[in-house]
Amino acid sequence: MPGQGDDGTGLKARPVGPRRRWLARRSGTHAPDQRRNGALPPGWLSAPRVAGACLGAWLLCHAATLIAPAAVADDASSRPASALLCPVTGQPADRGICARFRGRFVYFASDAARQQFEREPARFAEQVQTQWTADPLLRVQVRCPVTGEPARGTVYEGCGDDAVFFASEEARRKWLADPAAYRDRLERECYTFQTGCATCGNPINPAAVKTVDGRALYFCCTGCPMGFERDREKHLRAVDAQIASNKAEWERRSAARAVGAPASQPATRPAAAPTPP
Ligand SMILES: [Zn+2]
Repeated sequence: MPGQGDDGTGLKARPVGPRRRWLARRSGTHAPDQRRNGALPPGWLSAPRVAGACLGAWLLCHAATLIAPAAVADDASSRPASALLCPVTGQPADRGICARFRGRFVYFASDAARQQFEREPARFAEQVQTQWTADPLLRVQVRCPVTGEPARGTVYEGCGDDAVFFASEEARRKWLADPAAYRDRLERECYTFQTGCATCGNPINPAAVKTVDGRALYFCCTGCPMGFERDREKHLRAVDAQIASNKAEWERRSAARAVGAPASQPATRPAAAPTPP
């Protein structure tokens, strides 16, 4: 059933705090995100496609990206804390107050600002893009910590940095029953520092994965693996550079956060939030 908040705009509030977390769980059944996963049947990469179909997929994919640059962005992402500005008030944003918009989290200075945004999200699209540009992705959660399958951007628990994404509602329920049982796997196996498509650099789709030389490479869409093969060495070098850069920045920020930041953590965050490696 479409709807349940994550509609065509990608808008989905995910408030936190005891009462709001309860509300969030209560409404935690999300429709499948057709943009991200619905168009990617199992085994789509293994079957050869005619060139016209691939070109069509590529064009479709990139046309969508031109219209909504972050539409397939960082559902399954996590980042260390940093100073960000609220798209509604221009004040420093609290990473514990966020909403979903075009497949990403947006952070706000207050609950009132979040509610104002949700009434007219398109009005603040430019300011949201500014916030995202100031806060580039360093890693993306691509796998479900419960099943090991690709994580879906519409099935998650928590908010912003603390959000954990799942492959299904059943997986989410299992996590809620015993998060400690899966937390180790989440940190060890479920993230990638590859944030951009191996061919074009657009935000990756966790379901668009292909094994190359024994390693998982991520793409933004079904058409991009073809482009990758046309200049494999060049693209591999770019991916490796991106991963190294993201990982170094992630470790730098994590170290800084471990040393000086605990006092500034928003009080509204869940106590059992996953910690960065
Ligand atoms: Zn791509």
